[in-house]
Amino acid sequence: MTPSDTGSPSDQEALRTQQAFATVVLRQYWGFSDFRPAQREVINSVLEKRDTLGLLPTGGGKSICFQVPGIVFGGVTLVISPLISLMHDQVVGLTMRGIPAFSMTGRVEPAVFGHVLTRMKGGPFFLYLAPERLKSRQLRRLIQQSSVRLIAVDEAHCISSWGHDFRTAYRAIFELRNALPDVPMCAVTATATPRTRRDIVQSLKMKAARTIQSSFDRPNIHFSITHQMDARPRVLSHLESTPGPAILYDSTRQGVEVWTEKLTRAGISVRAYHGGMDQEERERNQRAWMQKKVRVMVATNAFGMGIDRADVRLVLHVGLPASLEAYYQEAGRAGRDGRPALAEIIVTPDAQLARLALLQDGTIRKLRVRRSRRLFGYMRRYVDRPLCRRWGLLGYFSELSPQQCGNCDICARQLP
Ligand SMILES: [Zn+2]
Repeated sequence: MTPSDTGSPSDQEALRTQQAFATVVLRQYWGFSDFRPAQREVINSVLEKRDTLGLLPTGGGKSICFQVPGIVFGGVTLVISPLISLMHDQVVGLTMRGIPAFSMTGRVEPAVFGHVLTRMKGGPFFLYLAPERLKSRQLRRLIQQSSVRLIAVDEAHCISSWGHDFRTAYRAIFELRNALPDVPMCAVTATATPRTRRDIVQSLKMKAARTIQSSFDRPNIHFSITHQMDARPRVLSHLESTPGPAILYDSTRQGVEVWTEKLTRAGISVRAYHGGMDQEERERNQRAWMQKKVRVMVATNAFGMGIDRADVRLVLHVGLPASLEAYYQEAGRAGRDGRPALAEIIVTPDAQLARLALLQDGTIRKLRVRRSRRLFGYMRRYVDRPLCRRWGLLGYFSELSPQQCGNCDICARQLP
């Protein structure tokens, strides 16, 4: 039974009014006529003040799931987000729509703090926080004094060590739950296996949580896997036959450097992105690619979270991704505009060796290594199995789909 089933007639009436108001908010601030089905379900559940986990694919409008209820509730919505760029984009998006929002990432000056405090007394107001900020006693006091009506956790898979972007500081979010026991929590993510989902719900100490999942299928992406001795000719031929923006993922920093040089020598405009570069250079390269000044981004898995570019036609993996979750998230950056796009893994003997070497890294804790090996095991089985790729990917996320999708390399081979 949902709280609305048990609520009094006047509670139910209030809930219906809020639901209608949510649609008005969407029209007025975003200009869309209606929610997508999964968005509406998540929003209705949050409006019922239930802890809710929303699983929506990349480009599925995840942020609306907590932004709209935040406006309906009034007061303060706390948003925990893992990336400065992601927070920045959302704060700008809200501000442009005339909705007050602010992000706190590093140290905050007392004057700014005072300003935020004043804003928090009114509403609605969106305060974006890096999870590390929750350690600040001053901030915790501020939060407890203000009228917080909703806690949102963006990219919630970061809380699970089974997920692919694990961030230790995310584990501290549950303390918010202790400080604000009656405030509903809304967590959203684009990819999460059943195990990661359970982990999110438990780690956030969500109460009677509802999980709402929209289909993960991305029908316009053609999935493909090829085994090659040398990846270079294959990469070049794809770049020639598929015009438009592209991302090339390699598992190591060194691999990224090598590919950047190879492609540059082949006369292709390209930039690199990996964790070993200094932040300024990384941001410069990302901007150049986002602003369409270069065509190809060559990157490790450090690149991509929060990347909002809809017209990517090609995502190539020349190194094996660490897990199917990571792979689906990276491949899912292709074709977000809904037009045909291609995602291919090019398996070479070198690629397999590079990933195995990463797994033997002595600096990682034992438990982490065991989990990583297991996750990589699924990846290898996926790569070696001659079965419909989409069926394999969706099955990994416990989604049933036909055994022949008609839009992957295996299905293409079987067509008459
Ligand atoms: Zn298929």
